[in-house]
Formats: sequence, structure tokens, C-alpha cells
Amino acid sequence: MDRLLHEASSLIDAFGRTATAAALGDSLDNMRAQIRKGTVAEIDRAAILRDAGNRLADQEKPSPGPVFNLSGTILHTNLGRAPLAKEAVDAMVAAAGSCDLEFDLQSGKRGDRDRHVSEILCRLTGAEAATVVNNNAAAVLLVLNTLARRKEVPVSRGELIEIGGSFRLPDVMARAGCKLVEVGTTNRTHVQDYENVVGPRTALLLKAHTSNYVVNGFTAHVSEAELATIARNHGIPAVIDLGSGSLVNMACYGLRDERTVRQSIEDGMDVVTFSGDKLLGGPQAGLIVGNRTLIEKIKRNPLRRALRCDKITLAALNATLKLYEHPEKLAQRLPGIRLMERPLDEIEALGHRLAQMLSAYLPEWLVSLESATCQIGSGAAPTRTLASKALVFRGRGRTSQRHLKALSALFRSLPIPVIGRLHDGAFWIDLRCLEDEDGFVAQLNDASSNGATVL
Ligand SMILES: *Cc1c(COP(=O)(O)O)cnc(C)c1O
Repeated sequence: MDRLLHEASSLIDAFGRTATAAALGDSLDNMRAQIRKGTVAEIDRAAILRDAGNRLADQEKPSPGPVFNLSGTILHTNLGRAPLAKEAVDAMVAAAGSCDLEFDLQSGKRGDRDRHVSEILCRLTGAEAATVVNNNAAAVLLVLNTLARRKEVPVSRGELIEIGGSFRLPDVMARAGCKLVEVGTTNRTHVQDYENVVGPRTALLLKAHTSNYVVNGFTAHVSEAELATIARNHGIPAVIDLGSGSLVNMACYGLRDERTVRQSIEDGMDVVTFSGDKLLGGPQAGLIVGNRTLIEKIKRNPLRRALRCDKITLAALNATLKLYEHPEKLAQRLPGIRLMERPLDEIEALGHRLAQMLSAYLPEWLVSLESATCQIGSGAAPTRTLASKALVFRGRGRTSQRHLKALSALFRSLPIPVIGRLHDGAFWIDLRCLEDEDGFVAQLNDASSNGATVL
């Protein structure tokens, strides 16, 4: 170990003595284990230094780090959901140091951090007031805990949702301290079903967007306007968890059935919650808009302090919301919408350029450009798909699952990992979300000139 440390001066210089000693120790242990197994004959100090150097360089990489999301899911929850607009990224950087987060520059007194987004949210949705928390799960929790603790909340059985990443409406309701009263059936719920259960212990009526599934066939549901009427007749609020919640009509982007937050408000919903990083295209956040008195009450809940957003989120959200005030340029500036709108012939032309190059790099694979379907993801329009083009890798002859997995691991090991998907006995790289062609090609060139791997 002493000799290794003596020879590792450049590593110590770059990464510090403690980290270098730890990495060398791990590499040495690995090599001893290999010697015991008989796969390595004797201690090779140069190999240990190389191994430790790679490990240290890996630790230096930003984490979470960027990837190419070519999975075919535009808003992929595991890959950071909505890619942010440049305007939002710039705003985060600008707010990173000291900023007027809770400071009113005019009076020189303490300000409200919500004001960075509440006014603009009201303009965009027609709501009277707005507040923002860490994510939509937090928004639902906070709303229910404020307005329905120790009381009953009727929800249609068709809307008892589970969203990926363990958001289950009944569990969140239990944690918020309210009692779920199931209404109607899985496929049919009627106005009378609500009327039958509303009583003195009912706090509010709750509706949830069935984000990631559709109930088809013999169905009936109570609309937002109908639910709001029942609630109003009983003097209680109507609340909706909209999930993705779009701020503009997405029909022109092929999302005919997504209702806007403004429509929910116009239909009489008293409180609406939705996510910042789904269709909206901003940072992770939970937006709560609606009736002023109710929002004030929600803001006074001590839980809100535990669920509040930081300055970086608020800066990104403010910048993202501003883009909606200029809808003509939205499709150009907001990456999520830009990717949904991207013309198929542009994707196809990109595919032709890349297919040739990848065939040359991976001679033992057949690379073809094929039609594919993309989904929006994050529970927005679950049955809606977008036509796309993908590079599809098949082995020459029979391809084993093991080979396909090795190929997908190879793409993941690139400096900016490329995330594709295994499907139908092949490896697919969906090109709808590949915008940085130069960056993609440059790292393929680098990988192949290093020559170490198949690429
Ligand atoms: C996505 C979603 C949630 C959870 O939102 P997060 O922002 O991920 O916390 C809750 N309800 C519905 C209907 C959703 O679609």
C-alpha cells in the first residue's frame, strides 16, 4: 500500500489523499480476491493504479448526471421527467447565490416566497389564489390534511389511483388523516352515489385524474361540473387532483382529452392540484390553485413549512410559467412540447444519418431504421402514442437475450449514457428525443477511437 501511495502522486494531487487511499485499498482488495480465485497470477501495481484512477474519475462525475433519453417515453419519471427550457436553466443559475426569495425589494421587508409563481399562476388558470409545494403528492397531502382531517372524503371507486413510485390515493388520504368513503363502482359512478354518502361528516368531494389508465366500455362518471354542483349544494369544497394538469389546450399537440387547469376552475372546482414536471414542463413541484379563502387556510397549515420549495425550484418554475404567457413560441421553447411536435420526416432524416454510422461501428449487429411508437409518459394521456422512428439492433443470426443486454449496457456505459429499450427481441433507440446529434455522434467517435469496446 505504501508503494502504491508513493506511485499515486498524480491521483493524490487530483482527488486528495483520503479518497485516493480508499480507492487504492478497494482496487488492491479486488486484485487479491482475483489472485485467490486464480484469475490473476500476481499483484500488478500499474493495473491497480489504473483501476483506482478510473474509480476516482467515476466518483467525480456529476450525479445525477445527464443521459440521452431515447427510451421512447418523453416524460420518463426515472430519467428526470420534463427536460427544462433553457430559460428555466438560466433562471436557476441566476438564483443560485443570494436572491430575493422571501424579500420584498420595494419595502425592504420580508416577502412571501409564493409570490414568484402565484400571480402568474392565477393569470394562467383564472384561479383567485395559488401556492406551491414540493410535488403533487405533497399538494394532495397538504390539501386533504388542511381541509379534511378527521372527516370523510368520498371518492369514486373508478378513481382510486396508484401512480408509479408508490403514490396510492387511499394511502395518502390515510396519512392526511381523512377517511376515504368509496363511491360507485369501478366502471360506473353516478351523481346519486355521491348524494347518498354526503353528510355532516363529509369535508369535501375529491376527484382524481385517472392518469395512467382508462376505463373503457360500459362506463359512467360524474363530471367536474356535476361534482362541483353537488359540493356547492352541500356547502363543501370540490377538489381535483389533476395529475399532469396542462395550462394550455393541448389539442393542437394531439392531446384531445387533456383538460386544462382553467377548465377545472371554470367548472367550479374550488381547489386544483397538479405537477410541475409533467406536461407543464417545469421542475418538480406541486401546484395548488383555487379559492382564496381555502388557499389561505392551506398556506397556514404547519405541514406546509415541511413541504415548501427551494429558491432553485421557484426560479425554474417562474421562468417556465412565463413561457406560457407567450403561447405562440411555446412549442419552440418548451422541450417537452417541442419533442411531441417534432416532425416525423426530421426524425427519419436523423435516423438515416445515424443508421449508417452505427452499422459501421457495430459490424456484428444489423442496424435498421424502423417505425416506432413513443409515449408521453408520467401519466399524461396513457393511451396516446406518437409515431416515431427508432434505430433497431438485431444480431446476425439468432440473438440471445444476454447479447442484447450486453449491447444495451454498452450504450449505457458511454460518457453520456444512452438509454434505449429492449423490445421484441431487439434493442431500440427511439430518436424522437435525440436533439443533440453532434454530442451523440462525438461520443460514438470517441468510444470507437478508444477501441477498447465493440463500439
Ligand atoms: C403524477 C400524479 C401524482 C403524483 O404527482 P408527483 O408530482 O409525482 O408527486 C398524483 N396524482 C396524479 C393523478 C398523478 O398523475
